[in-house]
Amino acid sequence: MKLLGILGGMSWESSAHLYALLNREVAARLGGLHSARLLMHSVDFAEIEALQQCGDWAAAARLLGEAAAGLKAGGAQALLLATNTMHKVADEVQAQAGLPLLHIVDATAAALQAQGLRRVGLLATRYTMASNSFYQERMAGHGMELLTPQATAAEEVNRVIYEELCRGQLRPPSRAHYLACVEEMASRGAQGVILGCTEVGLLLDAEAQRLSPLPFFDSTVLQARAAVDWMLADADSAPLGGKSPGEAAAPGLGRPEFLN
Ligand code: GLU
Repeated sequence: MKLLGILGGMSWESSAHLYALLNREVAARLGGLHSARLLMHSVDFAEIEALQQCGDWAAAARLLGEAAAGLKAGGAQALLLATNTMHKVADEVQAQAGLPLLHIVDATAAALQAQGLRRVGLLATRYTMASNSFYQERMAGHGMELLTPQATAAEEVNRVIYEELCRGQLRPPSRAHYLACVEEMASRGAQGVILGCTEVGLLLDAEAQRLSPLPFFDSTVLQARAAVDWMLADADSAPLGGKSPGEAAAPGLGRPEFLN
C-alpha cells in the first residue's frame, strides 16, 4: 500500500471524517485488520481562514506548500488536499512539494460522468461557488455545467460552513436551508448536487438524501474513494470506483449531534 500525505485541518471536523472514510474503505477492500497508510499535517484553520478573508492566497499557498514538502520528506508518495476551497492553490502546493496531487474536482467529476450527468448544482464556499472560480473552470473542462444557489441563498450557504459546520455545529434550520437550495436548483434543471465543501456531507447526511429530490455527490466520500484506488493500485486487483457514486457518507461515523 502506498503512503498518502494529507493536508488536513480545513476544517478538522471534515478531516476527522475523511480519516475514518479512508480507513473504512481500505478495511472494506482488504479485510481483516487492514487500515490506511497515512501521514497528515493538520494546520491551524484560523490562519488559513484569515488569509482567505484578506485574499492573500499566495501566503496560503506557501504555508500549505511548506507543510506538503514536510509530508514528502516524511515519505508520502502523493498528496491529498482535504478541502475543496484550498484547491484554488493546488498547483502551487503541488509544485512546492514535488509530489503528485489527487485533485478533488477530478474525483468528483469522474463520479458525475459515471452517472451520465452534465448539469449539476453546487453547494460550497463562496470562493468555490464564484462564477469564474478555479472550481467552475476545472469542472467545465470535464464537460460539467454547474448551477449555484441564488446570491442571498449562496451567502447563507457560505456562512453556515464557516460559522457552524467548521465548528462542529449541525443545525436543523441550516439543513432545511441547504435542502431548499437543492430544490430550487432542481427546478432549474440540475440533475444532481455536488457537496463541494468537505463539511457539507456532515449536514446533508443519509436522512437528508432521502428528503432531497436530487442525488448527492459528496466530495469527501469521492475523494477518499479515489485516494484508496491510488493507494491500492499495485496491491489490489479490485476494479477502480467499484461502488455507486452519489452515495451519502459511510454509516456509523461518530459525528456531532444536531443542535436545536
Ligand atoms: N472544507 C471546506 C471546503 O471543502 C471549506 C474550508 C476551507 O475554506 O478550506 O471547501
